[in-house]
Amino acid sequence: MCGRRGRPSSRAYGAPAVPRRHRSSRVRDAEAHEAKMHRCPQTTEVMPAVSRRLSASLASLARGVVREGEPLSRRTTFGIGGPAALWFEPEGPDDLQAALRFARDEGLDCIILGGGSNVLVGDRGILGLTLHLPARREEITVEETGDAYVVTFPAGLSTAAVRRTARALGAVGPEFLVGIPGTLGGALQMNAGTRLGEMVDVVECAHVVTADGAGWLDAEAFHFGYRHAELPPGGVVTHLRLRFTKATPARIAAAEQAARAELARRHRTQPRGRSAGSVFKNPPGDYAGRLIEAAGLKGRRVGGAVISPVHANFIVNDGGATAADVLSLLRLCQARVEACFGVALKLEIKLLGEFRCP
Ligand SMILES: Cc1cc2nc3c(=O)[nH]c(=O)nc-3n(C[C@H](O)[C@H](O)[C@H](O)COP(=O)(O)OP(=O)(O)OC[C@H]3O[C@@H](n4cnc5c(N)ncnc54)[C@H](O)[C@@H]3O)c2cc1C
Repeated sequence: MCGRRGRPSSRAYGAPAVPRRHRSSRVRDAEAHEAKMHRCPQTTEVMPAVSRRLSASLASLARGVVREGEPLSRRTTFGIGGPAALWFEPEGPDDLQAALRFARDEGLDCIILGGGSNVLVGDRGILGLTLHLPARREEITVEETGDAYVVTFPAGLSTAAVRRTARALGAVGPEFLVGIPGTLGGALQMNAGTRLGEMVDVVECAHVVTADGAGWLDAEAFHFGYRHAELPPGGVVTHLRLRFTKATPARIAAAEQAARAELARRHRTQPRGRSAGSVFKNPPGDYAGRLIEAAGLKGRRVGGAVISPVHANFIVNDGGATAADVLSLLRLCQARVEACFGVALKLEIKLLGEFRCP
């Protein structure tokens, strides 16, 4: 557990080990439930009175910010999504764990939202408990180890803050995060990356909290893949330890130059509007954007959502788009690309919450 090469063990952090496999989960990743969602299940709305009771109970159990009916369209880069029936920003890991236990005991689904830059939230919002970790800069700690720095960051911190920290230390490592919005927790879950690298290149270990335990997990435990990491079911990442390499000014300048070039390339080739970045993963040996364009769908519009004329793997909220509009375009892309090229496009973005039935 994060104890190699002289780094502090989980015991040093006072954190109990998290079993790598748990039997129960309250976290809903709606992508895994897509098929079910599209059969339009009769979901039980959380009525305002119930919400009020739940928010009062939660506030009495855990420290943090509790809100009812938090509008999620303001918390996603798409600018789309209904309200979170119950919203909670825990003050610390113990409060987070208390909230996870509360959700389990109340039978509430539980979703963690970071910067909302890789999600499509349904128009009916999130009916259970939505968790959001605050960005606590004061929790950053730095450890010097030979030719490297190992820096502990809170998961609610932005990726931009991570790059700034490495620069201030005179180290290289996280330049690949250039142009990737969102938080570190989301970046770990997505193994976010660019042509310059991805999270797996810098993660030493991460602290994960579930309803049943908490502890540091080594990078290998996350089985990182292409825009994918495995967390213990119901697990929320609260802190990450990232390794940066000490570097000469010349090496730092070269790394910054590469990051600037990558950013310039993205500005030339990607749209500027409200989006969630690439909506589909690239299939092996090909590009989702190329396939969607070749299927004749570039520029296709449904309601306020449009397949970007700049880059076909981006769907842009052109004003007033609903989650249903975006979902229609996603389904259209999948059906047309499958019919034309026999390729099944897989979603990169996560579908969260409740979607209106067409
Ligand atoms: C304009 C634009 C460009 C982008 N370019 C790139 C790119 O080049 N490369 C790339 O990889 N991505 C890119 N993205 C996608 C997105 O920015 C990344 O995936 C980002 O890392 C998501 O972080 P987030 O905090 O916004 O996560 P969210 O979108 O809030 O959540 C994403 C997933 O992570 C989970 N999650 C969030 N926080 C935690 C946590 N603390 N613990 C456990 N699970 C958590 C959520 O439940 C959800 O399943 C882009 C997005 C936009 C809008």
